[in-house]
Amino acid sequence: MKRVYLAQNPADAHLLRGILENAGIPAAVHGDFLWSARGELPLTVDTSPSVWVLNETHYENALEIVAAFVSEAGAGLPSGEAWTCKHCGETNEGQFTECWRCGFPRKIPEG
Ligand SMILES: [Zn+2]
Repeated sequence: MKRVYLAQNPADAHLLRGILENAGIPAAVHGDFLWSARGELPLTVDTSPSVWVLNETHYENALEIVAAFVSEAGAGLPSGEAWTCKHCGETNEGQFTECWRCGFPRKIPEG
């Protein structure tokens, strides 16, 4: 399994999972069950819902779909371009808006 998307909320994750499965890519949502405990847990990648492709051969295709999904969702972030986390230095795939390792946001609000 390979993670293709880190969602803002469970609805977001399940919506994308449906889109992937409609495209013939088996996918799963992980972490949505932790959502209700989110207020009590530190905000990390482990407490965010994420979408995974079950078969890694679908990974590249899935990333294209994710990129389209993200741009349609109006996230406004350029997709496909890898970026480096300012907090931990991890390299992240372009579709992630938060560091997959530490959850640090890709863009810090100015000011
Ligand atoms: Zn990081």
